[in-house]
Amino acid sequence: QATPIFNFSAGPAVLPKEVLEQAAAEMLDWHGSGMSVMEMSHRGPEFISIYQQAEADLRELLAVPPNYKILFMQGGGLGQNAIIPMNLAGCCAQPATIDFVHTGSWSGKSIKEAKRYANVNVVASGEAGGFTAVPQQASWNLSSGAAYLHICTNETIDGVEYNFVPDIDARVPIVADMSSHILSRTIDVSKYGVIFAGAQKNIGPAGLTLVIVRDTLLDDALPICPSAFHFKTVAEHESMYNTPPTYAIYIAGLVFAHLKKLGGVAAMEKINIEKARLLYAALDADDFYENRVAHEYRSRMNVPFFLRDESQNDKFLAGAKARGLLQLKGHKSVGGMRASIYNAMPLEGVQALVDYLNEFAGR
Ligand code: PMP
Repeated sequence: QATPIFNFSAGPAVLPKEVLEQAAAEMLDWHGSGMSVMEMSHRGPEFISIYQQAEADLRELLAVPPNYKILFMQGGGLGQNAIIPMNLAGCCAQPATIDFVHTGSWSGKSIKEAKRYANVNVVASGEAGGFTAVPQQASWNLSSGAAYLHICTNETIDGVEYNFVPDIDARVPIVADMSSHILSRTIDVSKYGVIFAGAQKNIGPAGLTLVIVRDTLLDDALPICPSAFHFKTVAEHESMYNTPPTYAIYIAGLVFAHLKKLGGVAAMEKINIEKARLLYAALDADDFYENRVAHEYRSRMNVPFFLRDESQNDKFLAGAKARGLLQLKGHKSVGGMRASIYNAMPLEGVQALVDYLNEFAGR
């Protein structure tokens, strides 16, 4: 019996085994069509049915209201850092101002990119504290008449997750980068103007980017916005203005169906809470390990941690690998370790990691 493998990669990341098995079984001949999904025209009835089911299942899973469009785009999270300002910054007198909360690496990248298209106001930053908390909303220096407020609701590298939805002037849309925790917890979509997420963490393969956008925000683009990235154009063409990432949409659809079978997002959230509780408890048990994030903002998806004695890092990683616990090395910008425990990471995987953490610490 081979050691089971648990992949803690931050993304591309583990996918449900059942989904991969189904994709393998359907690889050469999808539902008797004689074709692989990869070979199908995106305008043919087979792929249209795959697309429509994926869209409907995602709408159901996140309870997306009817006045929101779901767009299946390309370009990743970083692409959206340009696509969103180009789509929303045409709303007001030029140059528009965009408000940002700086909570870590990914919101930092969003800030940098947005400066090419608009004035940027960083309303609060967690940088001085080493990105270990979301700055209290009472301290935010919001501008009046901002085109929108951008937040990253789960910082994948820093392991900082929002536990609240900002309560701001209803005329200012909230744009949320949910790349690394979408579908891991219930959300109220109606509180946001735009939600976006690269697929390669909690959804499916890299190459697909999900955008959920309120219909009143479809047509505020700057004139420079490329047609293929213009929300209104993409929405009017049901994400098929240009060829969409068809195979990635197919796999995402299988993941959505799988999540529905497991009881939906609320059921996943319950398991995610339990997995995170188990892992943080092992890290907090004594001084051997350290997670520096304030408890109320600790991410349920991405858990960075350090060995107090960093000279043992290589030994820790080698021992983990020997036990089938893969991809635990932290992001190069922060060092240490990181365990990403997305929806598809089973409780047994977290338990195996916890057992190893205890063993390595000599507990
Ligand atoms: N935002 C967040 C929160 C992320 O975790 C990532 C990727 N790790 C990105 C944006 C960038 O996504 P992409 O590589 O798809 O451009």
